Amino acid sequence: MNEMIHQIKEYAKKNPDSIAYIVYDAAETDMLQKSHYTVDSLTWKELNQYSDRLAGYISTHTKGRNPIIVYGHKNKYMLSCFIACAKSGHAYIPIDVSVPTSRVEDIIGSVEPEIILATEDKDFLLPIGCEYLDLMSIRNISYDGQYEIAQDLCTKPEDTFYIIFTSGSTGNPKGVKISTECLTNYVKWAQNLAGGGISQHTYRFLNQAPFSFDLSVMDIYLSLCTGGTICAVTKEIQKNLKLLYKVLSVADVNIWVFTPSFADVCLSDHCFNDKLLKNMKYFLFCGEVLTNRTVERLRENFPESVIVNTYGPTESTVCVTQAVIDEETLNDYNPLPVGAAKPGTWIFIVDENGNNMPDGEEGEIIIVGDTVSTGYYRNEEQTKKSFSIYTINGTEYRLYRTGDKGYKKNGQLFYCGRMDFQIKLHGYRIEIEDIENNLIKIPYVEKAVVLPNFDDSHRVKSLTAYLVYRENSTKIATFDFQLSQKIKRELKQLLPEYMVPKKIKFVDFIPMTMNGKVDRKALEDSQR
Ligand code: AMP
Repeated sequence: MNEMIHQIKEYAKKNPDSIAYIVYDAAETDMLQKSHYTVDSLTWKELNQYSDRLAGYISTHTKGRNPIIVYGHKNKYMLSCFIACAKSGHAYIPIDVSVPTSRVEDIIGSVEPEIILATEDKDFLLPIGCEYLDLMSIRNISYDGQYEIAQDLCTKPEDTFYIIFTSGSTGNPKGVKISTECLTNYVKWAQNLAGGGISQHTYRFLNQAPFSFDLSVMDIYLSLCTGGTICAVTKEIQKNLKLLYKVLSVADVNIWVFTPSFADVCLSDHCFNDKLLKNMKYFLFCGEVLTNRTVERLRENFPESVIVNTYGPTESTVCVTQAVIDEETLNDYNPLPVGAAKPGTWIFIVDENGNNMPDGEEGEIIIVGDTVSTGYYRNEEQTKKSFSIYTINGTEYRLYRTGDKGYKKNGQLFYCGRMDFQIKLHGYRIEIEDIENNLIKIPYVEKAVVLPNFDDSHRVKSLTAYLVYRENSTKIATFDFQLSQKIKRELKQLLPEYMVPKKIKFVDFIPMTMNGKVDRKALEDSQR
């Protein structure tokens, strides 16, 4: 039985008319001023019924079990689409509207879906034989009003529940497969974060991250599995702090899954405090370094709220450690810990030969346990590189090499950065080589190296691309500025906007090390 789907059905039966999902968007009629918002919502009964009908439709319109692509942003039918896929035994792949067309088409090409569900207008090409359901069709799907999907059709524990595509160093995104069992194990543990408080009430969860990022899995499934309400804010609202605060003053959220970057943006405004969010109970952090300064400011503005730091990559289902950052922890540690491993997970720190490091010594963070992904979708090579099997007390678990550096002390894990060129920019996971490999697809770029720029708390604040012109192409470069604008426009066709470097600089050559690798350090020094 799929425990989560069962639980969702139970909540729908118990509280049919309470709100499962509410979305706040900027009012279209007011796009210029952006001072008004719209509200749209879905009850638990509607969520269950739409997903049942859609699941019925999917199961009779598909021959195999290929994943289904769900394209859109925060429309109220997005969750019904996700649940419908699980109810019909299919994995879903959430793709946000911010992903450029060429990248969506690459994903579609690698997945060969039989059905694509889209709650926003598409501009990508459909493969032959693929059925496309737009918002109108999803809304009006009729499959016998009484239809209730059979439990045995749902995804089984070992079946993939969702696939999230993350930036890949080759220039193509990697699809991380998360099984139903991993998600169930994760949600069971996450309900007990911060001493179990979350499972005690039906809370209102703020959803900030787009559904194509695994940070959103934390708020969506914690809310769905505790009978709560998801309060989603669209990207239009998030771009406008004044409007966001207006929404927050009415949304009355209790739990916010946050990235430290976004917390700092909010904290820059004096209105962000417990007068605005009167019933704020938990701030759950993940995805980036949480600094003492951010926690201090948050504690000043929200003295009654609990702050939890969590750590983990998409490959281990959102996060696998937790640390409540109370007064004592704040005073005792700088940097702050990311916490202790959840039950069912083991964290090892190893050197380059795979030997365990003693406490306090830095090495690669290895995650072993019951929420580790089954690998990358149709990518054996990358899967073999990063995943393996590890036996603990006679039981086999999956192991993931994170590429993160860290150490353990006093039973806590501390994060110390990356071993490769992966970074976090405003909470987004980016492989620097992904940008470089896409830059050289632009015809007049011969070579490209991207370097991160850091702020005072050592967090990446922006990116600079250093480019060498392709020979004979300089004639189109009337001015560097014009050319860099043109390159940025072309790069936006290939990559999401957050991956496009803020600055582009043209250089005559890229310095190399003795063994023929790009000398990033020399390049950085030459620009000082
Ligand atoms: P993602 O797959 O987008 O969740 O990104 C995972 C990566 O984010 C990890 O491999 C870490 O490099 C980083 N990360 C996640 N949680 C934390 C944290 N609490 N502190 C610092 N870095 C983190």
